Amino acid sequence: MNYSISQLETWDKSYNWHPFTPMAAYLDGTPIIISKARGFFLVDQHGKEYIDGFSSLWCNIHGHQVPELDNALNEQLRKVAHSTFLGLSNEPATILAKKLVELAPAGLNRVFYSDSGATAVEVALKMAFQYWHQCPNPKKSKTKFLALGMAYHGDTMGDVSIGDLGRFHDIFKPLLFPTIKSPAPYCYRCPLRLKPESCGMACALELEKLVELHAHELVAVVIEPLVQGAAGMVTAPRGFLKRVREVTKKHDVLLIADEVAVGFGRTGTLFACEQEQVVPDFLCLAKGITGGYMPLAATMTNDEIFNAFLNEPGGEDKTFQHGHTYTANPLGAAVAIASLDLLIRENGVLAQVRAKGERMQKHLDRLRGFPFVGDIRRSGLMIGIELVANRETRQPFPAGVNPAHAICMMAGGYGLMIRPLGDVVVVMPPPAIPEEIVDRIGEVLYNCMMDFSTKISGQEG
Ligand SMILES: *Cc1c(COP(=O)(O)O)cnc(C)c1O
Repeated sequence: MNYSISQLETWDKSYNWHPFTPMAAYLDGTPIIISKARGFFLVDQHGKEYIDGFSSLWCNIHGHQVPELDNALNEQLRKVAHSTFLGLSNEPATILAKKLVELAPAGLNRVFYSDSGATAVEVALKMAFQYWHQCPNPKKSKTKFLALGMAYHGDTMGDVSIGDLGRFHDIFKPLLFPTIKSPAPYCYRCPLRLKPESCGMACALELEKLVELHAHELVAVVIEPLVQGAAGMVTAPRGFLKRVREVTKKHDVLLIADEVAVGFGRTGTLFACEQEQVVPDFLCLAKGITGGYMPLAATMTNDEIFNAFLNEPGGEDKTFQHGHTYTANPLGAAVAIASLDLLIRENGVLAQVRAKGERMQKHLDRLRGFPFVGDIRRSGLMIGIELVANRETRQPFPAGVNPAHAICMMAGGYGLMIRPLGDVVVVMPPPAIPEEIVDRIGEVLYNCMMDFSTKISGQEG
């Protein structure tokens, strides 16, 4: 592709429409066009290198141009790039399904493929709903979902209906189905205005009450286990997830675990649910499933759900009427198998995530000295640094300051690619990141905080 840099920059601004991107501001700037990537570095059109500090939006696991993953793709390319999964099968998706069943919490024996996190959750919503119509003891009154405050489950209409991030979701409200909301386990800004030391996990209690009250109409509770990613890396107190599982089981409500962000080692275990010995009824997987190489997703469920979709001879049609053209794409599945192998092999990537997280923690602890660093949240290698104008009152910065955006821009200058979520600086490097790059990220963060400190003191004086 021999196009000049300026041609590509012009065409990007003329023809592309970028997701979640305020396009007017974008058109005023100079685009960063990633032209290649190797290891843990992204390289732009001018050859400038950036540490991939956000795992190319939370999906990369092993870095870029990983020989084992490249080989898996190349080998599959010599067989078949794509063939449909509607009534037909393929080799890699079959092998991957078996591996996922072996690795997932016990009982999740069926894999339904799709191609993004949004579809993985959408599939779970529709399957769960249909289950209550077809299970041995049908409950057709079950038509609602319960989700958490600040939830994000993807951008299709069903997912937006159960989502709760105003700036992403509010505009679509007239189109959405009603969802029951339970307070987010957001200790730094408790929606119940309580203190974590003394609240007795009141948010879990509230959820328990809501599940009990609405059990007759509740299809399922949907949750991001351990960390609500898009909410700004909101980490739930230990035991919260387990209580959600217990109360849903008790009241005959299904549990959908959206591990699209937290799955595949991000939080220190292969799946986040493992940390509280939770087995959900649906496990939604995407982002990291292919190591960040290809769009692929999976919705896993148990035999009880699956069996409710089996037609009896001569009986009603119980088929799950849902699918996507590229479902179970063989290239995606082939690279997913290779990625899983690297992740879980002895002394592989997974075994080292916790130690790397702790190493990162040392750098994060240094940032607490800055008065505008309000809260630092971390689970494995998922990190959120919430910035505030006043640490005592936790008062946010005034509208227009966009402190996290400013710091992420500064990080770009230092060669670290990260993205903010509201006033939260999000750092989420690939789990395979080497320790020396963890240290570099720590240094860049410190430098950015120093620069930001200078910038705001300059504005005050
Ligand atoms: C990113 C994300 C999704 C949506 O995944 P896409 O592949 O972007 O559609 C769903 N749930 C969670 C928790 C996510 O972080």
